[in-house]
Amino acid sequence: MRNFNYFHPSRIQFGWGRINEIGKIIKRNGIRCLLVTVKPFIAMEELFLKVIKLCQEEGVEIIHYDGAIPEPTDECVNIGSEIAKENNADVILGVGGGSTIDTAKAIAVGTTHEGGVWNYRLGQKRIDSKKVLPIIAVPTTGGTGAEVTNMAVIKSSKDKIKSALADWNLTPSVALVDPELTLTVPPHITASTGFDAFTHSFETFINKNSSDFIDIFALQALKNVIKYLPIAIENGTNKEAREALSFAATLGGLCISNIGTTLPHGIAMALGGHASGISHGEGLAILYPEVNRWTWRHAIKKYAVVGRLFNPVLEKSSDESAAEKCCDEIESFLKKIGLWISLEDKVVSEDDIGAIAGDTLNLRNYTLHPKIANFEDISDLIKKSFRRNK
Ligand code: NAD
Repeated sequence: MRNFNYFHPSRIQFGWGRINEIGKIIKRNGIRCLLVTVKPFIAMEELFLKVIKLCQEEGVEIIHYDGAIPEPTDECVNIGSEIAKENNADVILGVGGGSTIDTAKAIAVGTTHEGGVWNYRLGQKRIDSKKVLPIIAVPTTGGTGAEVTNMAVIKSSKDKIKSALADWNLTPSVALVDPELTLTVPPHITASTGFDAFTHSFETFINKNSSDFIDIFALQALKNVIKYLPIAIENGTNKEAREALSFAATLGGLCISNIGTTLPHGIAMALGGHASGISHGEGLAILYPEVNRWTWRHAIKKYAVVGRLFNPVLEKSSDESAAEKCCDEIESFLKKIGLWISLEDKVVSEDDIGAIAGDTLNLRNYTLHPKIANFEDISDLIKKSFRRNK
């Protein structure tokens, strides 16, 4: 076996109905809690009211900030941070998808650090770990795994850049993962968030730094997504499928917080900065076909393993053949889950290709990919992702 390190600071509380424990969890971490959510809407309003009631029953004061938005900006984080400061919040609770959880995490920094949260993104000012407020995360999508990762992804409202704050104390103290909260996620969001969970495990598995320990998490998560994502898209109330996807998402989060993602995430982050209207999962779905065709020869054994998870008949094929077929399998999967889409579908300008490729090289993800891309390679992969045979 290869040497490995493993560290994880979150307490994970997983299971049906465990949302009922939220009041007691918050009380252990603080007495004035900033609850961070998106604006209430039919599918979520009842949940938000329930969380507030459960916390109040434990004597916790709740301040509700409902200004989180999909693909959050530094602006919405800074507003939330001011509200947390004014109310002396001592614990931050995020209830929602990855965007909401990241907003909550970034507020835990913004509340105690001067000068706006964008100054503390990767490569900029150092986050003072001791000052980060405790964070509790309750995911309502089965996708990002943000409930157990050490980063918060945010976009600048002014610059066309998506970046992240990263620090081990940004890992939520408690990740309360209750699959019941995902039963209301509509099919297209189930697809894009579920595919995100696939990519976290896949990119950890093919990562240059992958470990025998984390591979166990990655392979289980891949199996769950391959089997259950189409079922959950077809029938959102299928509890077995939702449970398997919530589990896969958390495993994927553990994967990326220990090993990290590779080239597709680097390009998707850069793309997310330049294009609005593309969700994170959609961006990855758009890039995967071209990136896989360009990569598989450089990680034949890994692609072969994943190919065989999709199609056990490939056990009889050589590794090389199974690895190449893995690319076909992932493409068929994208078609099956309704994510056979291109950049053209998402109205991205071809004039932005150079800037997106340049921003990709500012993130370290590409250095962990089995094949190292340069500016021309990345530009070419983005260009080829503009059109897709329907
Ligand atoms: P999201 O949080 O943006 O939510 C997508 C939509 O689904 C929103 O409109 C939201 O209100 C809605 N929604 C959420 N839960 C719902 C429910 N139970 N029922 C009905 N509707 C619901 O989507 P996401 O994919 O979970 O998060 C994407 C964000 O997470 C991106 O910004 C991405 O960059 C980030 N991300 C962060 C990490 C990390 O480690 N921090 C990892 C991966 C992705």
